[in-house]
Amino acid sequence: MPEFKVPFYGHVRQYRSIKKEIDDTILTVLESNQYVMGPALKQFEQELARYSGTKHAVGVNSGTDALWLVFLALGVKPGDEIITTANTFFATAEGIWIARAKAVFVDCDPRTNNIDPARIEAAITPRTRGIVPVHLYGLSADMKAISAIARKHRLFVVEDNAQAVDGRGPDWRQGELSDAVCLSFIIQKNLGTFGDGGAVVTNREDVDTAVRKLRNHGSAVRSVHSMGYNSRLDDLHAAILGVKLKHITRWTDRRREIAARYTRGLQGTSLKLPYEPPGFRHVYHLYVVETPRRDALEKFLLEQGVDVKLHYPIAIHQQEGYPWGQAADPGPRVPNCERNAAQCLSLPMFPELTDDEVDYTIQKCVEGDQKAR
Ligand SMILES: *Cc1c(COP(=O)(O)O)cnc(C)c1O
Repeated sequence: MPEFKVPFYGHVRQYRSIKKEIDDTILTVLESNQYVMGPALKQFEQELARYSGTKHAVGVNSGTDALWLVFLALGVKPGDEIITTANTFFATAEGIWIARAKAVFVDCDPRTNNIDPARIEAAITPRTRGIVPVHLYGLSADMKAISAIARKHRLFVVEDNAQAVDGRGPDWRQGELSDAVCLSFIIQKNLGTFGDGGAVVTNREDVDTAVRKLRNHGSAVRSVHSMGYNSRLDDLHAAILGVKLKHITRWTDRRREIAARYTRGLQGTSLKLPYEPPGFRHVYHLYVVETPRRDALEKFLLEQGVDVKLHYPIAIHQQEGYPWGQAADPGPRVPNCERNAAQCLSLPMFPELTDDEVDYTIQKCVEGDQKAR
C-alpha cells in the first residue's frame, strides 16, 4: 500500500484514542462466556434505541441485511416496486433485489444529491409498496416531503441511514417520519466496529418483532422456527459499538468542523461543494466535491499524497449486468444521478484528521483546480 501524506481513513487513530475503553470491553465479553445473542447485544440495542429516540433497535449482521430483513418484515412480495435513487452504494438496490422486489430509480436533487421529492409521484404505480430515501454522504433526505407523499399513497418509508448516524432534519429526527431506519456498522461508517454489523431502529412493534425473528432462523422461542435467516450482531461488536456510541456526537462535531474548514478553503475554486440545507445536521460521512474534471483532479491529488476515493463512480443502473434478470426500470432517466457518478470526488474525512492535513489537502485541491482550468 502506498504511503499517503493524508490518509483517507483513520481507523487505527480512532482505536488508539479510546484504546483502553475498547480493550476493556472486549476482554469483558471474552470472559463472559456469552458471545451470540448475549447481554452485550441486549444492552447495545437498548442504548441505541434510547440514543435514536425510537422504541426499538435490533442488531443484525450488516446494513444490507437490515434493509432486506425490514422489507420482508413489511410484507414485501416478489414483483413489488420500491422507489429509491441510483446514486447510492450498491447495497441499497441489492437489499431490494434480495427481497425479490423491483428497484425503481428516481432522480436526485442536484444540490443535495438526495432523492428529489418532486419527482417521486410520477414513479408511483399500482405495484409501488414503499420509498427508500438514502441519506447520502451524511445529509438526511427531505423526510418531511417524502413522508407526506408516502402517507397520501399509503406507502412505507424505510430510511437507508448507513451514512448519516447522528444526523437530523430541522425539526425531525431519523425514525420519526418513517417505518424503519437501517444502519450499517462496517468499520468505515461514522459508527463502525472492527468488522461488519448493522441494525434496524423503528417505532413499530410489528417490525421489531418480525426482524428479531427473521435474524435468528425465524425463531422467537427456542426450537420453534419459521423461515428466516442467520443475521445476528455478535456480542463483541455490540460491546465495541456501545463504547463508540458514547463518542459519536463529539466525532460528528469534529467532522463538521473539518467540513467547514474545507468549505472555507475551497471557496473560489471551480469545485461544487457540499450543500447543507438550513437547519439540517449534515454529519459528513464523506466530504464530496464535484467537478467535470474529476479524473484529472483525482490523479493529481493521489500523486501529491492525498488519498481520495470515488463514491460512487458507477450509478446502479449503469452497473454491468443490471438488472440481473429481474424486471428493469425501463431506461431510468436520472441525469443528476449520472452526473453525480461522473463528477464525485471524496476528500479525506474522519474525526482524527489534523488541521494541517486538512490545510494540505485544501492547498493541493486549489493547485489541482488551477492546473485544470
Ligand atoms: C454501507 C452502506 C450500505 C450497506 O451496509 P453494509 O453494512 O456494508 O452491508 C447500504 N447503504 C448505503 C448507502 C451504504 O453506504
